[in-house]
Amino acid sequence: MTSTAQALYLLAAVLFVLSLAGLSKQSTARRGTVLGMVGMAVALAATVLLSLERSSRPVLVTGVLIALVLAVGATVGTWRARSVEMTQMPEMIAVLHSFVGLAAVLVGYGSWLTAGTDGHRGDVVHGVEVYLGVLIGAVTFTGSVVAYLKLAARIRTAPLMLPGRNVLNLAALAACVALLAWFLATDGVVPLLLMTVVALALGWHLVASIGGGDMPVVVSMLNSYSGWAAAAAGFMLGNDLLIVTGALVGSSGAILSYLMCRAMNRSFVSVILGGYGVEAGTGAGPGAAGPAGEHREVSPADVAAMLAAARTVVVTPGYGMAVAKAQYPVAELVSRLRAAGADVRFGVHPVAGRLPGHMNVLLAEARVPYDIVLEMDEVNDDLAETDVVLVIGANDTVNPAALDDPDSPIAGMPVLEVWKARQVVVFKRSMATGYAGVQNPLFFRDNTAMLFGDARTQVEAILAALPLPATR
Ligand code: NDP
Repeated sequence: MTSTAQALYLLAAVLFVLSLAGLSKQSTARRGTVLGMVGMAVALAATVLLSLERSSRPVLVTGVLIALVLAVGATVGTWRARSVEMTQMPEMIAVLHSFVGLAAVLVGYGSWLTAGTDGHRGDVVHGVEVYLGVLIGAVTFTGSVVAYLKLAARIRTAPLMLPGRNVLNLAALAACVALLAWFLATDGVVPLLLMTVVALALGWHLVASIGGGDMPVVVSMLNSYSGWAAAAAGFMLGNDLLIVTGALVGSSGAILSYLMCRAMNRSFVSVILGGYGVEAGTGAGPGAAGPAGEHREVSPADVAAMLAAARTVVVTPGYGMAVAKAQYPVAELVSRLRAAGADVRFGVHPVAGRLPGHMNVLLAEARVPYDIVLEMDEVNDDLAETDVVLVIGANDTVNPAALDDPDSPIAGMPVLEVWKARQVVVFKRSMATGYAGVQNPLFFRDNTAMLFGDARTQVEAILAALPLPATR
């Protein structure tokens, strides 16, 4: 049975690698997801087989216990998958990362407690495995809880700027190293417990110190940490598949974090060290929330007329499009404008929405052709030649303060330079700020018009007011 389980583990690992390869392109993402699901089913089947074989209890008892656990997990998973809104997915993912972290901590303590019975007591390698597993798990757990609270808007998204915060982080790391020496020398629970407390506080502080605009990197970084925590648990449990899967998640999350840092002009090291070296971004500077001039409002009929006369149109979607579920009428609007001969494309910022690829998923859902969905860099140079830009529920990702105001919390982040277009229409419900809590000077520019209201309702109103497509 063991060889069957090992063969299934290998098959699952290959399926996970193929799944990641599929997820790297929009056109193959659906296949990637299916391969990942099949891989997980195979992995579960193999784990059940192994557990039945290795259990010291009668097979029937172990089988019933596993079935009970599977039933509870499947019920909760199905309920959450059905009830969670698409806009709540980022919070949901943060919660799932926190579970992986907590599981690694519990596996670590379990492994330490049973070290005497399985012959590991006093084994340095096992001691390091337990220590690192608990350390990474604890940092991932509290870091993910803070990420959840920030993403769910339960706490302020502005960075927590404790005095001497970098020294605090370094002191926590130094304490963990010293406690490791103590733990290895004595194999006692006291240094393990002390390190857990320090690591829990460190995870909390690292993520709390990151400002709203940098949260996307934190989310992918926690994804990476959760992978390393799972790999550490794999070492402790002697489970090869968990090691492989954890390493895949850990390394792909690290690559994603690095790419996002590059796309946002942020230092990778600074972000993983809790904003090390970043002193701006308190939100108290000129870029902070507050009125910044007069804005101009338009009606859906005005926008319909503007669009009917436009030859080139760029749509820049943001988180508000997800909230309003406006992707469907937006897709219809784009299709009607294209049918009438206009050149219409989407410009997607790498951190638009609340998840990497969030906008791409929504646009794919609404069957927008992939070839007109461009990345920020592909569209930015063309904006000066564009007649109309429709900013649908985007805010931080189109904020000129990122380029013009060195004191802004989002200073240095590349943005879609929509203000260069001839006319810009911003769809939102109010003058409220975006996720980073920064006022947007775009709204007060002469060529910007505000269309207030729910984005879906307003796009539908434009569709109703749009003259029938005419051939140009
Ligand atoms: P923002 O969060 O900056 O702004 C969204 C805007 O949508 C708000 O100003 C809001 O204004 C408007 N809005 C909300 N609901 C509606 C609605 N029903 N109809 C119309 N408008 C609506 O969005 P962006 O996408 O531009 O920026 C993403 C931000 O999130 C960045 O700061 C990014 O760093 C951060 N982030 C991104 C993550 C990622 O992985 N992509 C992860 C974590 C954070 P109003 O309330 O007035 O309607």
